[in-house]
Amino acid sequence: MIFSPGKGVKYHYLLSIYELLDLFLYEQVVNMAKIVLTEEDIEKIAAQGRTSLVTEENMLLTDLAYEKAKRLGIEILQSNLHLPPSSLVRPSLGQTETSQTSFSKPNNLPSIPKSIESAYTSRDILQFNEFSTEQQLRNAIILTGRILYHSGLMVSNDGNISVRLTNGNILITPSGVTKGRISAEDLLVIDLDGQIIKAAENPNLKSTSEQPMHLEIYRQRPDVRAVIHTHLIFANALAISMGKIRMDVIPEAAIAFGEIPITEFSLPSSPQNAAVIRELIKDHDVLLIRNHGSLAVGKNLDEALIKTERLEHISKTLTFAELLGDVNTLPPDMLDAIQGIVQKNNKLHK
Ligand SMILES: [Zn+2]
Repeated sequence: MIFSPGKGVKYHYLLSIYELLDLFLYEQVVNMAKIVLTEEDIEKIAAQGRTSLVTEENMLLTDLAYEKAKRLGIEILQSNLHLPPSSLVRPSLGQTETSQTSFSKPNNLPSIPKSIESAYTSRDILQFNEFSTEQQLRNAIILTGRILYHSGLMVSNDGNISVRLTNGNILITPSGVTKGRISAEDLLVIDLDGQIIKAAENPNLKSTSEQPMHLEIYRQRPDVRAVIHTHLIFANALAISMGKIRMDVIPEAAIAFGEIPITEFSLPSSPQNAAVIRELIKDHDVLLIRNHGSLAVGKNLDEALIKTERLEHISKTLTFAELLGDVNTLPPDMLDAIQGIVQKNNKLHK
């Protein structure tokens, strides 16, 4: 079958069935895209002194924008959760390609930049390690903020995210801003005593008021390199209403968490938050701060994010089950078996 790219393009493609499928998927991606970044946008980003751009699900870069980013040394990172398949990368239209970028007609398909396809995946960004650079960790926090915000797990100005840098300092989100809309330059570097090592580019941005709680965790847990604190709706509602998140209903909950402790009450943003988690955080990666929110820690942000998501998902299921009534608990022998698995896992991780 012959497919003509049309308008100014001098050659034809022979399309296989797979390519047609790609084309269909590509159209889905194109239809999804609402924001098209042009050369001019990249110039603006460069003028702000930024060295990277994390693209979101609803963004597309034109070829010229991509070329401009390459020339200006701006790294394109993807946070797209629904990426086009790799085969969607079209051959460059070369000299015949002008600035035309109509996204409505299949015969004007812009090529999806190769580097987006080959750039880090979201998981690569979040699964950092002790050797990752500060810039990589900044990108990881930005991406985590967007994922949490777009999942409804971190709304308004709530919540905060931090990671441990290679040199032992902490990179942390500022207070008073929506984590779905921050940039890498908005983050602050502090030391384990809370002293500012590197301020945010905007001097009005101060470190999160929950800083003492984060520092308490990093001081106590050398294995932790990432902390997420957020105000989960269902987990909080269960803790407020039922006084616990029960572990005798959903096997995965019991296996994943063992138990989820709830702290004593402390005023949000007060130093008492550090005091109420002090003992509990020694043996738990996930806990709830009474009438306030959740804490999840991990060796990287991927781990902390998964725990946060799982906690809320389990809490949501439990909430609906409680509302429907007649909650069926697991049989006692099953609970014993789960307990055995939990103990074995704990031993393996020690
Ligand atoms: Zn909070």
